[in-house]
Amino acid sequence: MSPKDLYAVLGVKKNASPQEIKKAYRKIARSTHPDVKPGDAEAEKRFKEATSAFEVLSDEKKRKMYDEFGEDALRMGFDPEQARAYKKWQTRPGGRAAGFEGFDPSGMGGFDFGGGQATGGFDLGDILGDLFGQRKKESGRASPFSGFRPKPARRRGGDTGASIRISLREAVLGASRQISIDKPRTCGSCKGTGGEGTAACESCGGSGLRTGQSRLKVKIPAGVLDGQRIRLAGQGLPGAGGGPPGDLLVKVQVQPHPLIRREGQDLFLELPVTVGEALYGATVEVPTFQGSVKVKVPPGSQSGRKLRLKGRGVPRGEGTGDLYLTLAVRLPAEAPDDELKEAIDTLESKYKASPRAGLDI
Ligand SMILES: [Zn+2]
Repeated sequence: MSPKDLYAVLGVKKNASPQEIKKAYRKIARSTHPDVKPGDAEAEKRFKEATSAFEVLSDEKKRKMYDEFGEDALRMGFDPEQARAYKKWQTRPGGRAAGFEGFDPSGMGGFDFGGGQATGGFDLGDILGDLFGQRKKESGRASPFSGFRPKPARRRGGDTGASIRISLREAVLGASRQISIDKPRTCGSCKGTGGEGTAACESCGGSGLRTGQSRLKVKIPAGVLDGQRIRLAGQGLPGAGGGPPGDLLVKVQVQPHPLIRREGQDLFLELPVTVGEALYGATVEVPTFQGSVKVKVPPGSQSGRKLRLKGRGVPRGEGTGDLYLTLAVRLPAEAPDDELKEAIDTLESKYKASPRAGLDI
């Protein structure tokens, strides 16, 4: 998933002023807010995207981090130390991001996974209050119509998204993660009604929503697939007019493993052996996600020989996959000295035919 350019989401230039950013967001929010377009999934998606982008770009610190680190900043919960370490780790040869949790800009608000610290996100209630401030003014006037606010229809709250990154080990064995999300919830002062009669609620400015941070536990089942979504029922946006809340869909991103490849339920690992182990046969210890096992390498094994460890793959549904080992004969790393040269010459003399005999294609 490649996160969207947050500036493009709001349709502003990279050097836009805070006022321009706020103006752009309010313009989008005014036409896409679920209160304005109830039941319009496209509008809701646009609203969430814009809100996520605004959450970052309206915060001076977060915006600076985003400008410097791009998507890494989002992933690292805007901790410059972590973002730098992460970037370094990522750009290392063979570096990988396993263990770091992710960020899904399609989600609602600012997310901070696993790190435990608050994002210090903006208060959606304030922004929405601002957004619907006009209503408040109108309600103060004497006109018998201007203060009229229709009672919201009963509807289910929208689903929100978040994502977490897990290692292949966690995907195979299952895991449990704490995530923190900024989540709009029903305003406690007005119970989501937005106010009494013609007066808009002071706390939420009449939107009926306030933002608060929630810590949630996500249980990741053993055998989870990359890209699979875990549904946390009732953890999405609050419903309107007494409707039920939506769900939070947590997208699981399984980080590629540097040594193990996964194909469905099966795992593939290269098993290095010495010349002697391949020729004489040997019992070698092999690490698996379910603990290490002793594996018999048959005598006379060639490089590339495949061995199957039954049931050491990925559990999913009915059964568990297998772990396939591919033998790789390793030569000594050092430069041959006289003694080794002698041994190699002896070894060379034992090839009865060219190893490439029969290589007709
Ligand atoms: Zn309220």
